[in-house]
Amino acid sequence: MKNKYENFCNYLKNSGKQTLTLTVEDIEKINNDYLPTSAKTYPAFWSNYRQLWLEAGYDIRNILKNGKEITFYRVAQPAENAENIKSPDCEETKCAYCDKTIPQHSIFCPFCGEKQINKCPFCEEPLQNEFKFCPNCGKSREQMKEKNAQNSESAATE
Ligand SMILES: [Zn+2]
Ligand SMILES: [Zn+2]
Repeated sequence: MKNKYENFCNYLKNSGKQTLTLTVEDIEKINNDYLPTSAKTYPAFWSNYRQLWLEAGYDIRNILKNGKEITFYRVAQPAENAENIKSPDCEETKCAYCDKTIPQHSIFCPFCGEKQINKCPFCEEPLQNEFKFCPNCGKSREQMKEKNAQNSESAATE
């Protein structure tokens, strides 16, 4: 769902102020859109959207004080780009079988339990998880799995 108050939330995020006291009309101007009538009459309108203001780093108080003002006060820095910050040693790849994102050097997929094959058992060609077939000999993942199973069986019986 699109956030109808995105312009205003961005304004809050970038305001750099500890507290902001705004009237509903101010907010309409900032948001570049009219607010519903309930925004002017029911304090609950503002608390219903509290999550949006919190995400922008602000909590609210004195809602509709003097019949029109709302005070936003800063509670935290917005957690911007939090998910883009990853330590360089936790690279990811996709499971060759279920396509879920898994840590690069997983031996087994933590989602479907399949053993990841990094090397073609027929021709020793290195494989990336995205490859469904060996680029050198054209064997499929299924054939590689069978081959690996046979290899480990014969290793066990020998
Ligand atoms: Zn998997
Ligand atoms: Zn191969």
